[in-house]
Amino acid sequence: MRIAIIGTGYVGLVTGACLASLGLTVECIDRDAERVAQLRRGEVPFYEPGLAELLAQCRLIDSSGTPSLRFSTPDVATLSEADVVFLAVGTPTSPDGQSADLRALTAAAEDTARQMRSRAVLIIKSTTPVGTGDAVARLVASAAPQSFISVASNPEFLREGRAVEDFLSPSRVVIGCDSEHAEMLLKCIYEPLLENGVPLIATTRRTAELIKYASNAFLATKLAFINEIADLCELAGTDVEAVSQGMGLDPRIGSQYLQAGPGHGGSCLPKDLLALAHTGRQFGINLQLVEAVKRVNEEHQARMIEKIEAACGGNVEGKTISFLGLAFKPETDDVRKSPAVALISMLLERGAHIRATDPQALHNTQRLLPGLDVAENAYACAVGADVLVLATDWDEYRELDFARLRAAVRTPSLVDLRNALPASAVRAAGFSYVGVGRASLTIERDDS
Ligand code: NAD
Repeated sequence: MRIAIIGTGYVGLVTGACLASLGLTVECIDRDAERVAQLRRGEVPFYEPGLAELLAQCRLIDSSGTPSLRFSTPDVATLSEADVVFLAVGTPTSPDGQSADLRALTAAAEDTARQMRSRAVLIIKSTTPVGTGDAVARLVASAAPQSFISVASNPEFLREGRAVEDFLSPSRVVIGCDSEHAEMLLKCIYEPLLENGVPLIATTRRTAELIKYASNAFLATKLAFINEIADLCELAGTDVEAVSQGMGLDPRIGSQYLQAGPGHGGSCLPKDLLALAHTGRQFGINLQLVEAVKRVNEEHQARMIEKIEAACGGNVEGKTISFLGLAFKPETDDVRKSPAVALISMLLERGAHIRATDPQALHNTQRLLPGLDVAENAYACAVGADVLVLATDWDEYRELDFARLRAAVRTPSLVDLRNALPASAVRAAGFSYVGVGRASLTIERDDS
Protein backbone atom coordinates (compact mmCIF):
# COMPACT_ATOMS: atom_id res chain seq x y z
CA MET A 1 0.00 0.00 0.00
CA ARG A 2 1.26 3.48 -0.85
CA ILE A 3 0.90 6.13 1.80
CA ALA A 4 1.41 9.89 1.63
CA ILE A 5 1.67 12.08 4.70
CA ILE A 6 1.17 15.85 4.56
CA GLY A 7 3.22 17.57 7.26
CA THR A 8 6.55 16.34 8.60
CA GLY A 9 6.26 17.76 12.11
CA TYR A 10 6.42 15.81 15.37
CA VAL A 11 3.41 13.72 14.34
CA GLY A 12 3.77 13.48 10.56
CA LEU A 13 7.43 12.51 10.50
CA VAL A 14 7.07 9.96 13.28
CA THR A 15 4.02 8.49 11.53
CA GLY A 16 5.94 8.32 8.24
CA ALA A 17 9.02 6.70 9.72
CA CYS A 18 7.00 4.20 11.78
CA LEU A 19 4.72 3.20 8.90
CA ALA A 20 7.77 2.76 6.65
CA SER A 21 9.36 0.60 9.35
CA LEU A 22 6.21 -1.57 9.26
CA GLY A 23 6.86 -2.20 5.56
CA LEU A 24 4.64 0.39 3.89
CA THR A 25 5.80 2.69 1.11
CA VAL A 26 5.60 6.24 2.39
CA GLU A 27 6.03 9.69 0.87
CA CYS A 28 6.35 12.47 3.46
CA ILE A 29 5.39 15.89 2.14
CA ASP A 30 6.01 19.31 3.66
CA ARG A 31 5.61 22.83 2.31
CA ASP A 32 8.75 23.80 4.21
CA ALA A 33 11.34 23.23 1.47
CA GLU A 34 14.27 23.64 3.89
CA ARG A 35 12.85 20.89 6.10
CA VAL A 36 12.41 18.57 3.13
CA ALA A 37 16.00 19.28 2.02
CA GLN A 38 17.23 18.48 5.55
CA LEU A 39 15.32 15.21 5.59
CA ARG A 40 16.71 14.25 2.21
CA ARG A 41 20.21 14.85 3.56
CA GLY A 42 19.38 12.44 6.38
CA GLU A 43 19.09 15.15 9.05
CA VAL A 44 16.22 15.07 11.56
CA PRO A 45 14.70 18.53 11.97
CA PHE A 46 13.83 18.12 15.68
CA TYR A 47 14.91 16.06 18.67
CA GLU A 48 12.90 12.90 19.24
CA PRO A 49 14.58 9.85 20.77
CA GLY A 50 14.86 6.89 18.40
CA LEU A 51 13.64 8.82 15.36
CA ALA A 52 17.05 9.39 13.75
CA GLU A 53 17.81 5.67 14.02
CA LEU A 54 14.45 4.72 12.54
CA LEU A 55 14.86 7.14 9.64
CA ALA A 56 18.35 5.80 8.98
CA GLN A 57 16.93 2.26 8.94
CA CYS A 58 14.31 3.28 6.37
CA ARG A 59 17.01 4.91 4.24
CA LEU A 60 18.87 1.60 4.27
CA ILE A 61 15.79 -0.17 2.95
CA ASP A 62 15.75 2.60 0.31
CA SER A 63 19.09 1.61 -1.07
CA SER A 64 17.97 -2.00 -1.52
CA GLY A 65 15.67 -1.01 -4.35
CA THR A 66 12.12 -0.35 -3.18
CA PRO A 67 12.02 3.12 -1.68
CA SER A 68 10.17 2.79 1.63
CA LEU A 69 10.36 6.43 2.65
CA ARG A 70 10.89 9.56 0.61
CA PHE A 71 10.49 13.26 1.16
CA SER A 72 8.92 15.83 -1.16
CA THR A 73 7.55 19.32 -1.33
CA PRO A 74 3.91 19.58 -2.48
CA ASP A 75 4.87 20.72 -5.99
CA VAL A 76 6.73 17.48 -6.77
CA ALA A 77 4.76 15.04 -4.60
CA THR A 78 3.14 12.09 -6.35
CA LEU A 79 -0.18 12.13 -4.52
CA SER A 80 -1.96 10.49 -7.42
CA GLU A 81 -0.10 7.26 -6.59
CA ALA A 82 -1.21 7.12 -2.95
CA ASP A 83 -3.95 4.79 -1.72
CA VAL A 84 -4.12 6.71 1.53
CA VAL A 85 -3.13 10.28 2.42
CA PHE A 86 -2.70 11.32 6.05
CA LEU A 87 -3.08 14.97 7.01
CA ALA A 88 -0.72 15.75 9.90
CA VAL A 89 -0.51 19.54 9.72
CA GLY A 90 -0.72 21.81 12.75
CA THR A 91 -4.05 22.89 14.27
CA PRO A 92 -2.89 25.64 16.65
CA THR A 93 -5.13 28.14 18.43
CA SER A 94 -6.74 30.65 16.06
CA PRO A 95 -5.97 34.35 16.25
CA ASP A 96 -9.30 34.61 18.18
CA GLY A 97 -7.46 32.88 21.05
CA GLN A 98 -10.09 30.16 21.42
CA SER A 99 -10.96 27.92 18.50
CA ALA A 100 -8.65 25.56 16.59
CA ASP A 101 -7.14 27.21 13.53
CA LEU A 102 -8.08 24.83 10.72
CA ARG A 103 -6.79 26.94 7.84
CA ALA A 104 -3.68 24.82 7.18
CA LEU A 105 -5.76 21.66 7.39
CA THR A 106 -8.54 22.75 5.04
CA ALA A 107 -6.06 24.23 2.54
CA ALA A 108 -4.06 20.99 2.56
CA ALA A 109 -7.24 18.88 2.25
CA GLU A 110 -8.48 20.86 -0.74
CA ASP A 111 -5.12 20.81 -2.56
CA THR A 112 -4.65 17.13 -1.82
CA ALA A 113 -8.13 16.08 -2.93
CA ARG A 114 -7.54 17.59 -6.36
CA GLN A 115 -4.50 15.38 -6.85
CA MET A 116 -5.70 12.14 -5.23
CA ARG A 117 -6.76 9.25 -7.33
CA SER A 118 -10.28 7.91 -7.39
CA ARG A 119 -11.47 6.01 -4.27
CA ALA A 120 -8.38 6.90 -2.27
CA VAL A 121 -8.81 7.68 1.45
CA LEU A 122 -7.95 10.96 3.16
CA ILE A 123 -7.19 10.46 6.84
CA ILE A 124 -7.15 13.32 9.32
CA LYS A 125 -4.45 12.60 11.88
CA SER A 126 -4.26 16.19 13.09
CA THR A 127 -6.31 16.93 16.21
CA THR A 128 -9.55 18.47 14.94
CA PRO A 129 -12.82 19.53 16.61
CA VAL A 130 -15.87 17.33 16.27
CA GLY A 131 -17.46 17.93 12.87
CA THR A 132 -14.21 18.86 11.07
CA GLY A 133 -14.14 15.52 9.22
CA ASP A 134 -17.68 16.20 7.97
CA ALA A 135 -16.66 19.67 6.78
CA VAL A 136 -13.52 18.29 5.11
CA ALA A 137 -15.62 15.58 3.39
CA ARG A 138 -17.88 18.28 1.93
CA LEU A 139 -14.85 20.31 0.83
CA VAL A 140 -13.23 17.29 -0.78
CA ALA A 141 -16.45 16.31 -2.57
CA SER A 142 -16.70 19.75 -4.10
CA ALA A 143 -12.95 20.01 -4.95
CA ALA A 144 -12.86 16.56 -6.58
CA PRO A 145 -16.47 15.56 -7.31
CA GLN A 146 -15.61 12.56 -9.50
CA SER A 147 -13.05 11.01 -7.14
CA PHE A 148 -15.27 9.43 -4.42
CA ILE A 149 -12.63 10.10 -1.78
CA SER A 150 -13.48 8.89 1.73
CA VAL A 151 -12.49 11.03 4.69
CA ALA A 152 -11.58 9.33 7.98
CA SER A 153 -10.40 10.49 11.40
CA ASN A 154 -7.44 8.73 13.03
CA PRO A 155 -6.34 10.89 15.97
CA GLU A 156 -2.83 10.46 17.31
CA PHE A 157 -2.02 9.93 20.99
CA LEU A 158 1.79 9.81 20.91
CA ARG A 159 3.80 11.73 23.50
CA GLU A 160 6.76 13.78 22.37
CA GLY A 161 9.90 12.28 23.87
CA ARG A 162 8.41 8.78 23.45
CA ALA A 163 6.80 9.26 20.10
CA VAL A 164 8.33 6.31 18.26
CA GLU A 165 7.62 3.91 21.10
CA ASP A 166 4.08 5.27 21.49
CA PHE A 167 3.34 5.01 17.77
CA LEU A 168 4.57 1.44 17.50
CA SER A 169 3.08 0.28 20.81
CA PRO A 170 0.08 2.55 21.32
CA SER A 171 -2.43 2.22 24.13
CA ARG A 172 -5.13 2.12 21.43
CA VAL A 173 -5.78 2.86 17.77
CA VAL A 174 -8.85 5.00 17.16
CA ILE A 175 -10.40 5.16 13.71
CA GLY A 176 -13.53 7.00 12.69
CA CYS A 177 -14.73 6.17 9.19
CA ASP A 178 -17.65 6.95 6.91
CA SER A 179 -17.13 3.93 4.68
CA GLU A 180 -16.23 0.25 4.93
CA HIS A 181 -13.49 0.83 2.36
CA ALA A 182 -11.77 3.45 4.57
CA GLU A 183 -12.13 1.24 7.65
CA MET A 184 -10.65 -1.74 5.79
CA LEU A 185 -7.62 0.27 4.62
CA LEU A 186 -6.99 1.69 8.10
CA LYS A 187 -7.23 -1.76 9.68
CA CYS A 188 -4.78 -2.98 7.07
CA ILE A 189 -2.29 -0.18 7.86
CA TYR A 190 -2.42 -0.88 11.59
CA GLU A 191 -2.60 -4.67 11.24
CA PRO A 192 0.91 -5.34 12.64
CA LEU A 193 0.02 -3.39 15.79
CA LEU A 194 -3.46 -4.90 16.12
CA GLU A 195 -1.96 -8.38 15.76
CA ASN A 196 0.15 -7.56 18.81
CA GLY A 197 -3.01 -6.98 20.83
CA VAL A 198 -3.32 -3.20 20.57
CA PRO A 199 -7.01 -2.38 21.15
CA LEU A 200 -8.90 -0.90 18.20
CA ILE A 201 -11.75 1.56 18.60
CA ALA A 202 -13.59 1.69 15.30
CA THR A 203 -16.27 4.33 15.52
CA THR A 204 -17.77 7.29 13.73
CA ARG A 205 -15.63 10.17 12.54
CA ARG A 206 -17.21 12.59 14.99
CA THR A 207 -16.72 10.23 17.93
CA ALA A 208 -13.07 9.64 17.00
CA GLU A 209 -12.51 13.39 16.95
CA LEU A 210 -14.06 13.81 20.38
CA ILE A 211 -12.10 10.89 21.90
CA LYS A 212 -8.91 12.85 21.25
CA TYR A 213 -10.12 16.10 22.85
CA ALA A 214 -11.73 14.33 25.79
CA SER A 215 -8.47 12.44 26.41
CA ASN A 216 -6.31 15.55 26.40
CA ALA A 217 -8.78 17.52 28.50
CA PHE A 218 -8.83 14.71 31.04
CA LEU A 219 -5.02 14.65 31.26
CA ALA A 220 -4.99 18.43 31.77
CA THR A 221 -7.66 17.99 34.46
CA LYS A 222 -5.52 15.47 36.37
CA LEU A 223 -2.57 17.85 36.29
CA ALA A 224 -4.68 20.83 37.36
CA PHE A 225 -6.17 18.75 40.17
CA ILE A 226 -2.86 17.67 41.65
CA ASN A 227 -1.46 21.19 41.28
CA GLU A 228 -4.44 22.56 43.18
CA ILE A 229 -3.85 19.93 45.88
CA ALA A 230 -0.16 20.99 45.88
CA ASP A 231 -1.21 24.56 46.65
CA LEU A 232 -3.25 23.23 49.58
CA CYS A 233 -0.32 21.07 50.74
CA GLU A 234 1.83 24.15 51.06
CA LEU A 235 -0.68 25.76 53.40
CA ALA A 236 -1.49 22.57 55.28
CA GLY A 237 2.14 21.58 55.92
CA THR A 238 1.92 18.36 53.91
CA ASP A 239 3.77 16.77 51.01
CA VAL A 240 2.05 16.47 47.65
CA GLU A 241 4.48 13.76 46.56
CA ALA A 242 3.13 11.43 49.23
CA VAL A 243 -0.44 12.50 48.48
CA SER A 244 0.12 11.79 44.79
CA GLN A 245 1.66 8.41 45.54
CA GLY A 246 -1.15 7.55 47.93
CA MET A 247 -3.77 8.45 45.33
CA GLY A 248 -2.00 7.01 42.30
CA LEU A 249 -1.73 3.51 43.71
CA ASP A 250 -5.51 3.29 43.52
CA PRO A 251 -6.05 1.67 40.12
CA ARG A 252 -9.22 3.71 39.65
CA ILE A 253 -7.04 6.84 39.75
CA GLY A 254 -3.64 5.80 38.36
CA SER A 255 -0.31 7.50 38.97
CA GLN A 256 0.34 9.06 35.58
CA TYR A 257 -0.25 12.78 35.09
CA LEU A 258 -0.52 13.10 38.85
CA GLN A 259 2.81 14.86 39.45
CA ALA A 260 2.66 18.41 40.78
CA GLY A 261 4.66 20.88 38.73
CA PRO A 262 4.62 24.35 37.19
CA GLY A 263 1.32 23.78 35.36
CA HIS A 264 0.66 22.07 32.06
CA GLY A 265 2.08 23.38 28.79
CA GLY A 266 3.24 22.04 25.46
CA SER A 267 1.91 22.10 21.94
CA CYS A 268 -1.26 20.12 22.69
CA LEU A 269 -2.95 20.40 26.09
CA PRO A 270 -3.37 24.21 26.23
CA LYS A 271 -4.69 24.56 22.68
CA ASP A 272 -6.88 21.47 22.89
CA LEU A 273 -8.49 22.64 26.14
CA LEU A 274 -9.31 25.99 24.54
CA ALA A 275 -10.69 24.35 21.40
CA LEU A 276 -12.85 21.90 23.39
CA ALA A 277 -14.32 24.70 25.49
CA HIS A 278 -15.04 26.56 22.26
CA THR A 279 -16.71 23.50 20.73
CA GLY A 280 -18.87 23.25 23.84
CA ARG A 281 -19.99 26.86 23.44
CA GLN A 282 -20.73 26.25 19.75
CA PHE A 283 -23.09 23.46 20.80
CA GLY A 284 -24.62 25.69 23.50
CA ILE A 285 -23.06 23.95 26.49
CA ASN A 286 -20.69 25.50 28.98
CA LEU A 287 -18.04 22.82 29.68
CA GLN A 288 -17.46 24.11 33.19
CA LEU A 289 -14.76 21.67 34.20
CA VAL A 290 -12.76 22.34 31.04
CA GLU A 291 -13.02 26.10 31.57
CA ALA A 292 -12.01 25.68 35.22
CA VAL A 293 -8.95 23.61 34.34
CA LYS A 294 -7.64 26.45 32.18
CA ARG A 295 -8.20 28.95 35.05
CA VAL A 296 -6.61 26.68 37.66
CA ASN A 297 -3.57 26.20 35.44
CA GLU A 298 -3.11 29.95 34.94
CA GLU A 299 -3.50 30.68 38.65
CA HIS A 300 -1.09 27.93 39.56
CA GLN A 301 1.47 29.28 37.10
CA ALA A 302 1.12 32.72 38.75
CA ARG A 303 1.92 31.06 42.08
CA MET A 304 5.15 29.71 40.55
CA ILE A 305 6.17 33.32 39.89
CA GLU A 306 5.38 34.19 43.53
CA LYS A 307 7.54 31.25 44.60
CA ILE A 308 10.49 32.50 42.55
CA GLU A 309 9.93 36.06 43.79
CA ALA A 310 9.94 34.85 47.37
CA ALA A 311 13.19 32.98 46.74
CA CYS A 312 14.63 36.29 45.48
CA GLY A 313 13.64 38.01 48.72
CA GLY A 314 10.36 39.43 47.40
CA ASN A 315 11.54 41.26 44.27
CA VAL A 316 13.15 39.84 41.16
CA GLU A 317 14.25 43.16 39.68
CA GLY A 318 17.97 43.10 38.94
CA LYS A 319 18.29 39.52 40.21
CA THR A 320 19.96 36.81 38.13
CA ILE A 321 17.63 33.83 37.84
CA SER A 322 19.09 30.74 36.19
CA PHE A 323 16.69 28.31 34.53
CA LEU A 324 17.64 24.67 34.18
CA GLY A 325 15.37 23.32 31.46
CA LEU A 326 13.30 25.09 28.79
CA ALA A 327 11.49 22.34 26.87
CA PHE A 328 7.90 21.76 27.99
CA LYS A 329 8.98 18.34 29.18
CA PRO A 330 12.17 16.24 29.06
CA GLU A 331 13.35 14.37 25.96
CA THR A 332 12.00 16.93 23.50
CA ASP A 333 13.21 20.22 22.04
CA ASP A 334 9.63 21.51 21.79
CA VAL A 335 9.09 24.80 23.63
CA ARG A 336 5.61 25.58 22.36
CA LYS A 337 3.65 26.86 25.40
CA SER A 338 6.45 25.62 27.62
CA PRO A 339 5.90 26.63 31.27
CA ALA A 340 9.60 27.59 31.48
CA VAL A 341 9.30 30.01 28.58
CA ALA A 342 6.08 31.51 30.00
CA LEU A 343 7.71 32.02 33.41
CA ILE A 344 10.86 33.51 31.87
CA SER A 345 8.79 35.99 29.86
CA MET A 346 6.94 37.10 33.02
CA LEU A 347 10.19 37.42 35.00
CA LEU A 348 11.86 39.43 32.22
CA GLU A 349 8.89 41.82 32.33
CA ARG A 350 9.51 42.24 36.05
CA GLY A 351 13.14 43.25 35.45
CA ALA A 352 14.93 39.97 36.24
CA HIS A 353 18.05 38.92 34.39
CA ILE A 354 17.50 35.39 33.11
CA ARG A 355 20.15 32.90 32.11
CA ALA A 356 18.94 29.56 30.81
CA THR A 357 20.10 26.19 29.64
CA ASP A 358 18.55 23.04 28.18
CA PRO A 359 20.11 19.91 26.67
CA GLN A 360 18.04 20.20 23.45
CA ALA A 361 15.76 23.22 23.39
CA LEU A 362 18.13 26.23 23.36
CA HIS A 363 17.78 26.85 19.66
CA ASN A 364 13.96 26.79 19.67
CA THR A 365 13.84 29.00 22.77
CA GLN A 366 16.09 31.60 21.20
CA ARG A 367 13.65 31.84 18.32
CA LEU A 368 10.88 32.72 20.82
CA LEU A 369 13.05 34.87 23.09
CA PRO A 370 15.77 36.40 20.93
CA GLY A 371 18.64 37.77 22.98
CA LEU A 372 18.04 35.42 25.92
CA ASP A 373 21.27 34.82 27.84
CA VAL A 374 21.92 31.10 27.39
CA ALA A 375 24.52 28.74 28.81
CA GLU A 376 25.90 25.47 27.56
CA ASN A 377 25.20 23.47 30.69
CA ALA A 378 23.83 23.71 34.22
CA TYR A 379 27.16 24.67 35.81
CA ALA A 380 27.76 27.56 33.39
CA CYS A 381 24.14 28.59 33.82
CA ALA A 382 24.50 28.77 37.61
CA VAL A 383 27.40 31.25 37.65
CA GLY A 384 26.43 34.29 39.74
CA ALA A 385 22.80 33.17 40.12
CA ASP A 386 20.61 34.57 42.86
CA VAL A 387 18.16 31.71 42.34
CA LEU A 388 18.36 28.45 40.42
CA VAL A 389 15.05 27.23 38.98
CA LEU A 390 14.64 23.64 37.84
CA ALA A 391 11.94 23.99 35.19
CA THR A 392 12.24 20.78 33.11
CA ASP A 393 13.08 17.47 34.73
CA TRP A 394 15.72 16.16 32.35
CA ASP A 395 17.35 13.09 33.87
CA GLU A 396 20.80 14.68 33.75
CA TYR A 397 19.66 17.40 36.20
CA ARG A 398 18.82 14.77 38.80
CA GLU A 399 22.47 13.78 38.89
CA LEU A 400 24.03 17.24 39.16
CA ASP A 401 26.97 17.88 41.47
CA PHE A 402 25.18 20.22 43.86
CA ALA A 403 28.42 21.21 45.66
CA ARG A 404 29.81 22.37 42.31
CA LEU A 405 26.62 24.32 41.65
CA ARG A 406 26.83 25.83 45.14
CA ALA A 407 30.32 27.09 44.35
CA ALA A 408 29.04 28.77 41.16
CA VAL A 409 25.97 30.64 42.44
CA ARG A 410 25.87 33.99 44.26
CA THR A 411 23.03 32.94 46.57
CA PRO A 412 22.37 29.26 47.32
CA SER A 413 18.67 29.16 46.62
CA LEU A 414 16.99 26.52 44.49
CA VAL A 415 13.36 26.33 43.34
CA ASP A 416 12.48 22.87 42.07
CA LEU A 417 9.32 23.30 39.97
CA ARG A 418 9.22 19.58 39.13
CA ASN A 419 9.93 18.07 42.56
CA ALA A 420 12.60 16.15 40.69
CA LEU A 421 15.75 16.83 42.69
CA PRO A 422 16.90 15.02 45.82
CA ALA A 423 15.98 17.69 48.37
CA SER A 424 18.29 16.33 51.07
CA ALA A 425 21.35 16.32 48.75
CA VAL A 426 20.51 19.83 47.58
CA ARG A 427 20.27 21.02 51.19
CA ALA A 428 23.39 19.13 52.20
CA ALA A 429 25.27 21.14 49.56
CA GLY A 430 24.15 24.34 51.30
CA PHE A 431 21.14 25.37 49.22
CA SER A 432 17.75 26.39 50.49
CA TYR A 433 15.28 24.11 48.65
CA VAL A 434 11.72 24.92 47.66
CA GLY A 435 9.58 22.47 45.71
CA VAL A 436 5.92 22.48 44.68
CA GLY A 437 3.45 21.41 47.37
CA ARG A 438 6.21 20.21 49.67
CA ALA A 439 5.61 22.24 52.83
CA SER A 440 6.51 19.28 55.04
CA LEU A 441 10.08 19.49 53.70
CA THR A 442 10.26 23.16 54.63
CA ILE A 443 8.93 22.42 58.10
CA GLU A 444 11.46 19.61 58.59
CA ARG A 445 14.21 22.00 57.61
CA ASP A 446 12.91 24.67 60.04
CA ASP A 447 12.79 22.10 62.82
CA SER A 448 16.32 20.92 62.29
P1 NAD B 1 4.11 20.61 13.64
O1 NAD B 1 3.84 22.06 13.70
O2 NAD B 1 5.31 20.03 14.31
O3 NAD B 1 4.17 20.13 12.11
C1 NAD B 1 3.25 20.52 11.13
C2 NAD B 1 3.97 20.45 9.79
O4 NAD B 1 3.00 20.59 8.74
C3 NAD B 1 5.00 21.57 9.57
O5 NAD B 1 6.25 21.01 9.24
C4 NAD B 1 4.41 22.40 8.42
O6 NAD B 1 5.40 22.96 7.57
C5 NAD B 1 3.58 21.35 7.70
N1 NAD B 1 2.48 21.88 6.86
C6 NAD B 1 1.51 22.75 7.19
N2 NAD B 1 0.68 22.95 6.15
C7 NAD B 1 1.13 22.18 5.13
C8 NAD B 1 0.69 21.96 3.79
N3 NAD B 1 -0.37 22.56 3.29
N4 NAD B 1 1.41 21.09 3.02
C9 NAD B 1 2.50 20.48 3.51
N5 NAD B 1 2.96 20.65 4.77
C10 NAD B 1 2.28 21.49 5.58
O7 NAD B 1 2.78 19.93 14.19
P2 NAD B 1 2.69 18.61 15.11
O8 NAD B 1 3.14 18.90 16.49
O9 NAD B 1 3.25 17.47 14.38
O10 NAD B 1 1.09 18.43 15.20
C11 NAD B 1 0.34 18.07 14.05
C12 NAD B 1 -1.07 17.72 14.52
O11 NAD B 1 -1.02 16.56 15.36
C13 NAD B 1 -1.75 18.80 15.34
O12 NAD B 1 -3.12 18.80 15.05
C14 NAD B 1 -1.54 18.35 16.78
O13 NAD B 1 -2.51 18.83 17.65
C15 NAD B 1 -1.61 16.84 16.63
N6 NAD B 1 -0.89 16.09 17.65
C16 NAD B 1 0.34 16.51 18.04
C17 NAD B 1 1.04 15.75 19.00
C18 NAD B 1 2.39 16.20 19.48
O14 NAD B 1 2.86 15.66 20.47
N7 NAD B 1 3.05 17.15 18.80
C19 NAD B 1 0.48 14.57 19.52
C20 NAD B 1 -0.77 14.16 19.07
C21 NAD B 1 -1.45 14.93 18.13
